[in-house]
Amino acid sequence: MSDEAPSVQPLPIPMFLGFFLLFVTWYVYKNGRKKLVWHQMKKYKALLQNRKKKYTVKLIDKKIVTHDTIRFRFSLGNSSMRLGLPVGKCVKVFGPNIAKKQNAIEWNPRPEMERNGEIIPSDPRPHQNDDIDKAGEWKEIIERKYTPCTLDSNLGYFDFTIKIYRSNENQLFPHGGKMSQYMESLEVGNSVQIQGPFGKIEYFGRGNWKGMGKKYGKRNQIGLICGGSGVTPMIQLIQAVLQDPKDNTTISMLYANKTFDDIIIKEQLDEWSLNSNGQFSIHYTLDSPPENWNGYEGFVSDTMISETLPPPSDDTLILMCGPPPMIKFACLPNLKKLNYDLKNGIGEY
Ligand SMILES: Cc1cc2nc3c(=O)[nH]c(=O)nc-3n(C[C@H](O)[C@H](O)[C@H](O)COP(=O)(O)OP(=O)(O)OC[C@H]3O[C@@H](n4cnc5c(N)ncnc54)[C@H](O)[C@@H]3O)c2cc1C
Repeated sequence: MSDEAPSVQPLPIPMFLGFFLLFVTWYVYKNGRKKLVWHQMKKYKALLQNRKKKYTVKLIDKKIVTHDTIRFRFSLGNSSMRLGLPVGKCVKVFGPNIAKKQNAIEWNPRPEMERNGEIIPSDPRPHQNDDIDKAGEWKEIIERKYTPCTLDSNLGYFDFTIKIYRSNENQLFPHGGKMSQYMESLEVGNSVQIQGPFGKIEYFGRGNWKGMGKKYGKRNQIGLICGGSGVTPMIQLIQAVLQDPKDNTTISMLYANKTFDDIIIKEQLDEWSLNSNGQFSIHYTLDSPPENWNGYEGFVSDTMISETLPPPSDDTLILMCGPPPMIKFACLPNLKKLNYDLKNGIGEY
């Protein structure tokens, strides 16, 4: 055999440059996409290292989303840092108790009322147990759970989308919400403390699930029912599924609100649905719809569920997040009526 190299004609320079550019474009595209998938971010340092520790994060941006909803962007202190929050989980946020600051004797007091023939006495501080210490005094610091709308692939920052319960806007709640009003008062440059992860449900990606005490395992047909700001864990999940080209999970969502103006990030949800090739579909229901509304009207019903969400099967998982009465009186009885597996086929954030 001869050692002589076969004679090869060198590529003309423009052709060589063309191939080189093609290669670079392909390499950047492939690796750029790979870098963005949220469950492949382990090489980046996570902020949340210790579930018992509180971490201080600084507010870097505040954006109005609806008339009563604000998106808060917090810095992770370093542009290559991830939050370190599994999809499905939330964090606790700590803040000063505005009721204590205001020396408030009452907070959204409840008048005497009758329920099922029983007289319920008036209460100056109903449902405030977690914000009051053993001596009956307001606690200095209160805590609330929030689900970031961003993923671990968002390096350097994370976002909360928070509905603000303002005072004097609802007769039943004249004082409004303590933490949400405190959050609204924050200015860019201020800090809060967070802790986590917390929560029962976890999504590992590509159809793999874990629920505390539940046997979810692999589920590829996901139905989501949410109300108001209960959309936040759903936003996290939808992005997690759509961001991964190898995730074939399908998601159908039924989103309930009082009015059209209460729908959080409608444009974004519609765009995700439009560009997903059928992988994600979104349906809305409103208590008081505007004229020419082509979505559903009224509380979540069996018809809405059967028309929009995947039918009961071993591959179906229905996840819910919203006000307790919506879950208790609208979601659960209708899911039961439609023969969904209430033990292992549903979950509540
Ligand atoms: C796992 C989990 C994740 C969550 N994620 C988010 C999230 O991402 N974004 C988000 O906005 N919330 C989220 N929440 C809700 C959040 O934890 C708080 O309950 C919410 O912000 C209200 O807290 P607050 O201190 O302002 O109200 P509180 O002082 O605790 O008031 C209690 C309740 O009174 C009612 N209320 C008070 N004022 C009014 C008013 N003006 N109009 C109508 N009702 C009123 C509301 O029902 C309110 O929840 C989440 C909850 C959980 C459990």
